Amino acid sequence: APAPPPAPHLFSDPAEVKALRRDLLAWYDRCKRDLPWRTLIPALLPAVWVSEVMLQQTQVATVIDYYNRWMQRWPTLQALARASLEEVNELWAGLGYYSRGKRLQEAARKVVSELAGGMPRTAEDLQKLLPGVGRYTAGAIASISYGQPTGVVDGNVIRVLCRLRCIGADSSSPAVIDHLWDMANALVDRSRPGDFNQALMELGATVCVPKAPLCGQCPVKQHCRAQRRKLFGKAAPVPDVEDCGAGGCPLCPPATEPWDSSLGVTNFPRKAAKKQPRVAQTATCVLERRGCHGALEYLLVQRPSSGLLAGLWEFPSLPLPQDLQEEKQREALAQHLEAWLGQPVAAGDLRLIGEVVHIFSHIHQTYVVYSLPLDGDVTLDPASSPSRWVTEEEFHASAVSTAMKKVLGA
Ligand code: SF4
Repeated sequence: APAPPPAPHLFSDPAEVKALRRDLLAWYDRCKRDLPWRTLIPALLPAVWVSEVMLQQTQVATVIDYYNRWMQRWPTLQALARASLEEVNELWAGLGYYSRGKRLQEAARKVVSELAGGMPRTAEDLQKLLPGVGRYTAGAIASISYGQPTGVVDGNVIRVLCRLRCIGADSSSPAVIDHLWDMANALVDRSRPGDFNQALMELGATVCVPKAPLCGQCPVKQHCRAQRRKLFGKAAPVPDVEDCGAGGCPLCPPATEPWDSSLGVTNFPRKAAKKQPRVAQTATCVLERRGCHGALEYLLVQRPSSGLLAGLWEFPSLPLPQDLQEEKQREALAQHLEAWLGQPVAAGDLRLIGEVVHIFSHIHQTYVVYSLPLDGDVTLDPASSPSRWVTEEEFHASAVSTAMKKVLGA
């Protein structure tokens, strides 16, 4: 069996664990934020599930409105299972990471059709049986909805635990992540696991924040080794327990980047340098026509049902090779549009509007925006992928990405 991590990175004193649980829960009872998914009966399962999925990668303030609309529309798993992907995408539009909504709906369908409407109740079963439910979501649902004493590790928990126990190795490395899960599972309060997990995440979101943590107001500061190290530095009046002392410790900061006293507790956590996003360029064309009531209409086409922005609607778009000259861009785009419209398009008629940049999680995407007003009626080829004409109002109610809204704005 692998050697246990060195003591400074552990909670090995049961009395301290007990005190930390008590202090954190007392603070949570006093200070927790009033969030819509907390005002419902906690056991009302879709509320916990939906909010946890929406909160991955997205701020609370953004999620609230989406969450309220979602729950109003699909208050039960049965209702969600009956929804179409189109409806899910429409509601999710603008929230980003669209596969989350799609997977949520697929999982609801599976619960209704294959599990007779009965949700798995443990973190292990949730993760095993439901598509798109990872370790974090499974732990959150099992502890909050079903009271299973199982921990959770999200970005906020990573930060809090790394500071509490001076963990300065790359926080995305398997050694650190495994250790944090072990610690979260050991720390979670046995009688109030859901509240404890929410309290730990809440602490990371409101007090132990990334840049300027409010250590003076922190309910667990007496258990925090980063804080102790900041206060006492090298001249600690007590033996410096925060120094691991184990050479080559997989949880300590690398020897090349030791503790920096100007950073204080924000020495922790540390991350390996982020991979640079891929640079991509796409030509996109806003095709306009006058609809039968005289209103301007735009052509939208649907993206494939898998991959980036699956099933979302967009203006006809064409990925471009790097550094393609404008003339060649026009020719390629004109050809692409011909395939949609079933009629010739002159490259010279395309009006260049400008560039719109949108950052997806891993892609730095530049849209080169063109427009083309069309005269007369245009019959779309029903054999091509789905496409439709929409007014501006319909555009905004459609399942379109934030990037396309920027394109229309341009
Ligand atoms: Fe975070 Fe400061 Fe509290 Fe430590 S004392 S857990 S660094 S807020």
